[in-house]
Amino acid sequence: MEVEFCPRCSTVVNRSYLYCPSCGARIHEVPEFSQVLDESLKGLKDREIQRQINRLNALLCRLAALEDALDAWELVRNR
Ligand SMILES: [Zn+2]
Repeated sequence: MEVEFCPRCSTVVNRSYLYCPSCGARIHEVPEFSQVLDESLKGLKDREIQRQINRLNALLCRLAALEDALDAWELVRNR
């Protein structure tokens, strides 16, 4: 097993560990993880945007129905 030393407390740490089991210091940079996090956050934003678009579409449908009802009411009133 490959080992290295924790930069903070000098505990011998398994090279595959990301964090020191003794003091919790980060042993390795983890760009892959932050990339994964970025992408899942982006996915979250996309879902939120899609949710807002769906809501807007639903509102537009109701608005169109209201406009139709208003037009019909105007026709009746102007008769
Ligand atoms: Zn440590």
